[in-house]
Amino acid sequence: MDYKNYFKHYPDSKGEFAGYGGAYLPPPLEPVFAEIIAAYNKISNDAKFIEELRSIRKHYQGRPTPVYHAKRLSDDNGGAQIYLKREDLNHTGAHKLNHCMGEGLLAKYMGKKKLIAETGAGQHGVALATAAAYFGLECEIHMGEVDIAKEAPNVSRMKLLGAKVVPVTHGLKTLKEAVDSAFGAYMEDIDNAIYCIGSVVGPHPFPMLVRDFQRVVGIEAREQIQEMTGALPDAVCACVGGGSNAMGIFSAFLDDPVELYGVEPLGKGTKLGEHAATMLYGKPGIIHAFRCYLLQDENGDPAPVHSIASGLDYPGVGPEHCMLKDTERVTYGGCSDDDCMVAFFKLCRLEGLIPAIESSHAVHYALELAKKMKQGTVLVNLSGRGDKDLDFVIENYGFGE
Ligand SMILES: *Cc1c(COP(=O)(O)O)cnc(C)c1O
Repeated sequence: MDYKNYFKHYPDSKGEFAGYGGAYLPPPLEPVFAEIIAAYNKISNDAKFIEELRSIRKHYQGRPTPVYHAKRLSDDNGGAQIYLKREDLNHTGAHKLNHCMGEGLLAKYMGKKKLIAETGAGQHGVALATAAAYFGLECEIHMGEVDIAKEAPNVSRMKLLGAKVVPVTHGLKTLKEAVDSAFGAYMEDIDNAIYCIGSVVGPHPFPMLVRDFQRVVGIEAREQIQEMTGALPDAVCACVGGGSNAMGIFSAFLDDPVELYGVEPLGKGTKLGEHAATMLYGKPGIIHAFRCYLLQDENGDPAPVHSIASGLDYPGVGPEHCMLKDTERVTYGGCSDDDCMVAFFKLCRLEGLIPAIESSHAVHYALELAKKMKQGTVLVNLSGRGDKDLDFVIENYGFGE
């Protein structure tokens, strides 16, 4: 594959990544998405838009976020040195604000009045509610009842930020159902609202648009780690739910001699319903109007999934990741519920960092990899902080003694 001109060719003119992705939309939505594509193509090349986004990142979000050498963690582990891209320090505590501020700014330039979205762990909801408050837009967030109970602090945050939180009560009452519900609400209010998906998933142009807004993570990290170590990292690891934080950091290294590892949640077992390891156990299918590797039941419908990390329990995955798996540019591996908690407590005790449970999956994988490598450097995208997970962790795992 040609990685020099990668961003020109992927996605292609049909919004596909080697056959994945696309836009399997109901006919009434086709002109709406054509309008979003046209607006994005125009606005994303507009100097005023680019300058405004740059200023927001610097003065409001607190970018660039640092890269940090986790020396005590590395020495305790043995082998390669671990470096963390600190997206936990991005305003609202995760990488998601990177695409939410982009989506909010796009909405503003398009003259939309309302942002609609789903949320899993609540991180996307909080980030989008933040963007809505910043831009003075209305905000409606759809969230499964199971996640509402598990992520109460984020529900309070969204409400404080002025968003309307809509509980989703059907099916498993988690992320997949929340996407269905949010999409339904959007269909009812198409002129006024814009749908802001929370990852590199959904119909074209969202996988492209979200990736483009997340590229800043990789661009910064590539420069920072070279400044710190004098070289590119040997490997880069990121957790993969829908895949936005991973695409953000991977995108800067595609054309480099750097191994890339996407880490999916192996949950609590190998049976369907016990994990959300889409790449490992899924096969191509269609979910939420795009084609990707998909965990499917016997009827080909999206299967129930589980992960200890609400932000990772999605039966599909971004189309760009599917292409990068098939071309073997990225290696996809996994980490179980219990293993990620081992890494969680290590970061707490050895580094004074309380990571998101999502991010802990990538950290655990990186620690195993670093041991095998013996030397060199591994860069991990620490996608978010764990404040949101504290009640859940303490109730189920105690204080890690
Ligand atoms: C939402 C979330 C993820 C998973 O989303 P991706 O699109 O796969 O990046 C990972 N980490 C944190 C902290 C999150 O909030």
